[in-house]
Amino acid sequence: MLLDDEVIRLVGISDRALAILGETDRIIDTRLHAHLPGKGPVSVQAYVVYHNAVRGPPCKGGIRMSSDVTLQETIQLAEIMTYKTALMDLPFGGGKASIVAGSELPPQEKATLVREFAHKIRNELISGAYVLAPDMGTSPREMAVIFGETHMRECVTGKPVGIGGLPGRREATGYGVAVVVEQAAKELLNSELSGLTVGVQGFGNVGSWACTFLSERGAKVVAVTDASGGAVSRDGIDIEELKKHVAKHGGVEGYGKHLSNEELFKLDVDILIPAAIGRVITRDNAGDIKARLVVEGANAPTAKEADEILSRRNIPLVPDILANAGGVVASYDEWMMAKSGSRTNKEETYSTVRTVLLEAFKETLDYSSAHEISQRKSALALAAERLIGTMEDRGWV
Ligand code: NAD
Repeated sequence: MLLDDEVIRLVGISDRALAILGETDRIIDTRLHAHLPGKGPVSVQAYVVYHNAVRGPPCKGGIRMSSDVTLQETIQLAEIMTYKTALMDLPFGGGKASIVAGSELPPQEKATLVREFAHKIRNELISGAYVLAPDMGTSPREMAVIFGETHMRECVTGKPVGIGGLPGRREATGYGVAVVVEQAAKELLNSELSGLTVGVQGFGNVGSWACTFLSERGAKVVAVTDASGGAVSRDGIDIEELKKHVAKHGGVEGYGKHLSNEELFKLDVDILIPAAIGRVITRDNAGDIKARLVVEGANAPTAKEADEILSRRNIPLVPDILANAGGVVASYDEWMMAKSGSRTNKEETYSTVRTVLLEAFKETLDYSSAHEISQRKSALALAAERLIGTMEDRGWV
């Protein structure tokens, strides 16, 4: 459970509300059977989890494709979505889906599995119970496959623009991370972003766009790592050149001087942004972190014990439910657009993400100052207050 005793006491959460927040609303546990050209017949595990639907339906959350994703992780990610959507004040419940298959599968094989998955959960999608989006290992291409199965634009967000995707949605999470980093530098480090050094883990959707927008705002991205390895340059990495390198070679490794993922977390940088997988900041490396600020681009990159170590070391951390919420904020606009048929442009998407995130950042900061708690506890407490308010409105508690 994300809430700890301090937050529960502070918000005054009743036993009944706590029991509801502590359980999972629904789990779909299914097998996908398909014939993959490169592999022959395969059977692959897939899950859909609705953690809490008080602010829905729909439950909202991305679909992860990874060979090591588990049901437990999918539940944790759905729980994160419950608090993230509440903190952003969106009328969505928290959900998540996963397909236990390698994210490195060729696009046609991914499409086959995703199509089978969409068949399996067809009723969830067309009834409006669940709205999908990309997560680790999936992209607008797979969202297009899902749209191809349902022919309903509101079933899935993060689609390519040509089939009703929102201009700016693709980069919205990374854009939001950059907005939050800039504000956190101002408020928590008392510094302009320009000239601050940044280290980023992950150069996929979230990490690469965060790097682009941070560089544009004058930050110096000095280190980037991913599943292939990493690169470091004290003069700053040219992000557009790195993107070309990754497009050609499939990963960051080989671009300039090598840096391992372990070394990244010990690097002397101002700002550290984990934007890849979960549980990378642990009790083993939290004591070695030299960054002055940690901003969670990924979901759940910091283990609980590591969180406490960072707190004790007075290293501020902006939590996932705030820092990477740009994607779901933009997804709400895409979902609305699918229903209304209206259109918008990239600048409007950026502006919405910026406005919503800065408002949530201010609320979180004010609450944390008022109650002398960390940004994570503050964000969770604010979200929990909203969730409980809605539970009362609906007569759940
Ligand atoms: P992605 O698949 O586009 O990229 C993942 C990146 O992580 C790649 O660069 C990959 O090489 C790297 N990676 C994978 N395994 C690694 C490992 N063991 N060590 C180091 N790096 C590794 O995924 P994404 O969409 O950018 O998602 C990244 C994180 O952000 C996830 O935690 C996801 O849940 C979260 N997130 C994504 C979105 C979104 O809109 N895509 C929104 C909110 C949160």
